[in-house]
Amino acid sequence: MSQRGRLIILSGPSGAGKSTVVRELIATCALPLELSVSATTRCPREGEQDGRDYHFVSLKKFRQMRAGDEFLECKEVFGRGDWYGTPAEQVEQGLEAGKWMILEIDVQGALSVMEKRSEALSFFVHPGSLEELASRLRRRGTDNEEAIRRRLEVAAEELQAIGHYQFEIINRDVEQSVAEICQLLQPYSLGAEHA
Ligand code: 5GP
Repeated sequence: MSQRGRLIILSGPSGAGKSTVVRELIATCALPLELSVSATTRCPREGEQDGRDYHFVSLKKFRQMRAGDEFLECKEVFGRGDWYGTPAEQVEQGLEAGKWMILEIDVQGALSVMEKRSEALSFFVHPGSLEELASRLRRRGTDNEEAIRRRLEVAAEELQAIGHYQFEIINRDVEQSVAEICQLLQPYSLGAEHA
């Protein structure tokens, strides 16, 4: 039987480059990493695929899943009425199969997983300062000034949660952040006690 995998939480303000970091980490780090695909009620963006980026579900379906206790955690993110949740069974099956399951989730969701699963390894990825985040969001050009202002407000709140995470990653360079996270994970593959 394969050794049980690890649970990894990764959060950080949107625009901090966290999705790119996660993608590169999975592609390059020699550990059996796998992204947990969340369910969401928000609409797919251009280029996103159902089942790969998210399980895109209706609010009705999401409520049913929630009532059926199918989520490890679920939250309404950004207060926009969009719900996001981590499917518990998918995570459990991955861990059982020896996968290191990465949950790329917001701070509130992360705090509830930490409460339930104290063995989870947690990373907070951020760009260093709110000024840096603001200039990245402007460069990205997907948000108007009002949306940027809201994202910065949320980010300022989220930054206060850094202390709850085991590892803080200042993402100035994707390759470097990925190497740092991969290296920080290594000791946990040496048969240290598993949950
Ligand atoms: P986006 O809509 O831009 O893909 O994601 C918005 C936010 O939702 C991001 O901060 C992302 O980390 C968070 N998120 C994605 N999936 C989940 C989830 O399953 N649970 C929680 N709590 N947050 C999630």
